[in-house]
Amino acid sequence: MSYQVLARKWRPKTFEDMVGQSHVLQALTNALDNDRLHHAYLFTGTRGVGKTTLARILAKCLNCEQGVSSTPCGECSACVSIDEGRFVDLIEVDAASRAKVDETRDLMDNVQYAPSVGRYKVYLIDEVHMFSGHSFNALLKTLEEPPPHVKFLLATTESKKIPVTILSRCLQFNLKHLSAEQIETQLEKVLESEAVESDAISRSLISKSADGSLRDALSLLDQAIAYGDGRLQEAQVRTMLGTIDSLELNELLEALVSGDAQAVLRCTDHMAEHNPDYDSVLVELLSILQRIAICQIVDSDDIEQDEMINALSHRISKEDVQLYYQVGIMGRKDLPVAPDPRTGFEMTLIRMLAFRPAGVATPEAREAIARPTTNKTAKIKPEEIKTVETGQTHSEKLWGNKAVNTESVQAEAPQPDVTEKNAESEGTSKVSAEVTGNWQSIIDEMALVGLVKELAGHCALKEHSKDKVHLVLSPDKEHLLNQTQKDRLANALEMRFGRGIQLKISIEEPDAETPAQKKAREERERQQAAESSLKGDDNVRAMEEMFGATLDEKSIRPV
Ligand SMILES: [Zn+2]
Repeated sequence: MSYQVLARKWRPKTFEDMVGQSHVLQALTNALDNDRLHHAYLFTGTRGVGKTTLARILAKCLNCEQGVSSTPCGECSACVSIDEGRFVDLIEVDAASRAKVDETRDLMDNVQYAPSVGRYKVYLIDEVHMFSGHSFNALLKTLEEPPPHVKFLLATTESKKIPVTILSRCLQFNLKHLSAEQIETQLEKVLESEAVESDAISRSLISKSADGSLRDALSLLDQAIAYGDGRLQEAQVRTMLGTIDSLELNELLEALVSGDAQAVLRCTDHMAEHNPDYDSVLVELLSILQRIAICQIVDSDDIEQDEMINALSHRISKEDVQLYYQVGIMGRKDLPVAPDPRTGFEMTLIRMLAFRPAGVATPEAREAIARPTTNKTAKIKPEEIKTVETGQTHSEKLWGNKAVNTESVQAEAPQPDVTEKNAESEGTSKVSAEVTGNWQSIIDEMALVGLVKELAGHCALKEHSKDKVHLVLSPDKEHLLNQTQKDRLANALEMRFGRGIQLKISIEEPDAETPAQKKAREERERQQAAESSLKGDDNVRAMEEMFGATLDEKSIRPV
């Protein structure tokens, strides 16, 4: 006998063989066994989840010579010929290729004739959403008054494209995406009975890349077995799928966790030799990050984790895991529009490092800073903070300092002026109008509420350095200042910049506009603009002249 592809060979022949979809199977079984059959069924779901397979089994249930039931015998001539695809009363239509009006009309004209051998004439219309408007009309007419000997089984990947008039006449079942575990279990079963050697990692890789479709999983399995010369081996499966060796991924994560940009780029260089599918590498990276995140919130004794995940979970902060995950997700979105996949992948990794909160690498150091200090003079010793000099950090941007680039990026980019940078960040820079604008954005980012927001809004930034902030508050707003609000503001600043900040607020007239003053001025300007535009409005003037009306200036509101 010639070789039959696995997807074909393992196509389920009974409801029991079906993987997943128990909610649909239960409903169909009940309907069949209690003789409560509908005349039209619509199966929806993504490709490869078993829509047409289910429809064919249903056709057997309806036509088995042993009688209508949820367990067709599989041996009678009706069952056998349906399995072999040559049952005359099962009419399979691929709507994608038969969208023409005439053909559909012919099809529907034949509906009225009784089945030639079976109990029911079963129309299985696949991809029914591809029908034209005319074809849908022809179908609708039949569905409105279906002959008793006819059953319609419709299948589609896009139920939204089907007219409601059709939908309302069908019993609709949504077939679910299969989980990777469900697919993996089925693969194990297939491999065992096909007597093919395999390992757990290969099975898991194939299950995941099948993306919920058992048919795809079995096709991949076929390929992988051919690739591995009758066996399923991790190395071959990875090459075939374009995924990366888990060791290389570990190395990459290791480099990311230690904030070593050069090592990260060395890893990508090495990966590029295998010409991997960068999207699936990102997916694997994301799935490891997710496992690390779980390891961090659940007691590690409760879950089975490999040592690598466990070790990494102690070395990387929860915030960084979340950040890397988020950047990775965005990176996947950007990948199709990147100049080429490798560039997109590298940029994603560089972004992970660049957006890391300034200066803090280890969770221990971060914790030391986040710990609320009752004594504001207690400061973190500089050596406790391991700085990661990668890209321009957000806080540096806000303070207007020059960025330090990663070494590798430096090679191409113009050298930043190091002396200037040091002078600026270590010394104290004077207030300028521009810094007031920045103070506003710092306030916005701290998401302050209530009194402390009021206080911050009425302050102007006088001086600042890396760990000191000096604000001034006008004497007529002095009532806003008390120790509680000052402590709250200091805490918010520390949270915002991820390091100890010494806050000083002095009472004197600010020489720059405070955010509150700026807001008030802008409001005044908008009000004036609204008033003058209304006063100059022809319609308003006409009303004043014709009806002796006067403009109530207090009622004017800018829009
Ligand atoms: Zn039968």
